[in-house]
Amino acid sequence: VIDLALSIYRELGLSEISLLLNSIGCPNCRPSYRQELLKFARAHMEELCEDCRRRMETNPLRLLDCKVEGCRRVMAQAPVISQYLCSECREHFEEVKRGLRSLGVAYREEPRLVRGLDYYTRTVFEVVHGGLGAQKAICGGGRYDGLVEELGGPPTPALGFAGGVERTLLAMEAEGKLPELDERVEVFVAYLDDPGREALPKVLSELRRAGLRADGSYTGRSLKSQLRQADRMGARYAVILGGEELAKGAAVVRDMELSEQREVPLDGVLKVLRGELG
Ligand SMILES: [Zn+2]
Ligand SMILES: [Zn+2]
Repeated sequence: VIDLALSIYRELGLSEISLLLNSIGCPNCRPSYRQELLKFARAHMEELCEDCRRRMETNPLRLLDCKVEGCRRVMAQAPVISQYLCSECREHFEEVKRGLRSLGVAYREEPRLVRGLDYYTRTVFEVVHGGLGAQKAICGGGRYDGLVEELGGPPTPALGFAGGVERTLLAMEAEGKLPELDERVEVFVAYLDDPGREALPKVLSELRRAGLRADGSYTGRSLKSQLRQADRMGARYAVILGGEELAKGAAVVRDMELSEQREVPLDGVLKVLRGELG
């Protein structure tokens, strides 16, 4: 699953990504770490931000996640969980790392990595990107073996991850990997009269679903001004829908460049356009 997460970013062409890895233990070993962490936090209470002081009693692990500079400085001295893992968790973590190595996946152990949600167990990971500054995580996940049970289901081991679309886009931008989008409209769907207007959404949607960059007008303007709009949008072709043609199961396809048009069976419009547009 970790490799799957990474492969998404590799496929997108990102190279400045790294994998951070940690184990946050299980219900057997985490409480003792929690205790230690709480003891540490109480001793440094003065230096922590308000948020941290509020949440330290309920969930001291979250303190490791605080982005406030002062808290980060303090927590960098905090005890790390690796020393508190029970033998099963330690062995499990070693196995995860062995698995990653055998896949040739590079990782960095980050003993203070935690997830924002309490249901995680053992493995947690983050994919971070070098070009993003402080908010560098583009994906986070891990194991949550207790979650299904907590929700009332049978004990079910589980794992997964979630990624941020915006941050991924920012990362792609930082690496110059955003594809150039061709936003020019290929086909403009216009209408002549009421029956044409009624048929328009369906035709437009079919063209779009077929992968054509299509647009249309619903504004009630004259056909002439609709075609001017098509021109402005750079459309190479226009499909004109009119009651008379629709009654015959046909539509008009107009070559905007050559100002030529011909009648085409409605169910053949797509084929004609495909042929013309290559
Ligand atoms: Zn454990
Ligand atoms: Zn804080």
